[in-house]
Amino acid sequence: MSSKTPGAMLPPGSTIGMLGAGQLGRMTALAAARLGYKVHVFAPDAADSPTAQVCAAATIADWNDEAALAAFARAVDVVTLEWENIPVPTVEFLSTLVPVHPGAGVLAVTQDRIAEKGFANGLGIDTAPWRRADSADDVARAKAEIGPRCILKSTRLGYDGKGQAVIGPDTDPAAAWQAIGGRPAIVEGFVDFVCEVSVIVARAADGRTAVFPTVENRHRNGILDRTIAPARVAPETAAEAERVARALTESLGVVGLLAVEMFVTRDGHVLVNEMAPRPHNSGHWTMDACATCQFEQLVRAVCGLPLGATQALFPAEMENLIGDDADRWPQLLAEPGARLHLYGKAEARPGRKMGHVNRLFPGARG
Ligand code: AMP
Repeated sequence: MSSKTPGAMLPPGSTIGMLGAGQLGRMTALAAARLGYKVHVFAPDAADSPTAQVCAAATIADWNDEAALAAFARAVDVVTLEWENIPVPTVEFLSTLVPVHPGAGVLAVTQDRIAEKGFANGLGIDTAPWRRADSADDVARAKAEIGPRCILKSTRLGYDGKGQAVIGPDTDPAAAWQAIGGRPAIVEGFVDFVCEVSVIVARAADGRTAVFPTVENRHRNGILDRTIAPARVAPETAAEAERVARALTESLGVVGLLAVEMFVTRDGHVLVNEMAPRPHNSGHWTMDACATCQFEQLVRAVCGLPLGATQALFPAEMENLIGDDADRWPQLLAEPGARLHLYGKAEARPGRKMGHVNRLFPGARG
């Protein structure tokens, strides 16, 4: 049986292809190396990228360079990704040559907010109320239907609050439409949430799943600032979040990881906000405080290995180091109970994720 047969267990020594070259690819490559796997990264910008710095091999080529993609496919045993916006045709092309997890169908849903919310709603899973908007008039109509406080979000390529405009009672819909560049969008009701939570689920090709505990996320300037693990929510709320995330993972047929971000409403229910079929910033705490870290779990899932245990070993908090925050590395290294992770990025631009620190609280039972 060829090692490229879908579903085959790939032994240590195999090579995992990684699409995308950021910090998520880097941490996956480090976890892969610990289990004896090699990683070959493919990205347009791989030269001194966070991932390429720690990989066995790197291909720097455009997403539509079929000759480079074919050579990459020949060099690897399985392909995964660290960015959900890899063009779908790239993944479709690669899939004819080598197993790619997660697959093109999963990306098509998670790249587009309309497809994503429609998918969740189709399973009976709640989201904030939303309408599609392809013009300023659509925005005005949606505002009239949903209520005076909404958020306009571009359907594609939005992350960390980019491509979004908050709409209040006095906001001119046309101005909001202009603010996001007049792109296809959705208008979403503003949720008066008590907190934001997320759940990461791993799923193997044979359908086995493993769910990481529900964690709580605090944002600053639209970017994740801290993750508190476990989330300080009622056990029923955590259980609902985990049930919803598992249902989405299974229905999408994800092989790999699915991270699901949710809002917790005042009555303790969850509304799905976004999903990402890859390791997630809110899972970085697992590197130091969980039986298996999310990156190792991705390697296990895509290589057909047994999934690891997902229980938290002790409570933890992850703080993102954004821009100049990373200059605090000497103090963070000197802090007892703090575990520093830096991504090897040369330039600390504002808003750029440079690293994170996990603070562990072994004395406190979560
Ligand atoms: P997103 O890009 O959809 O993850 O949005 C970024 C952040 O904006 C979220 O993590 C929330 O803090 C906030 N946000 C997004 N959508 C809503 C909403 N419908 N109601 C309230 N806050 C929101």
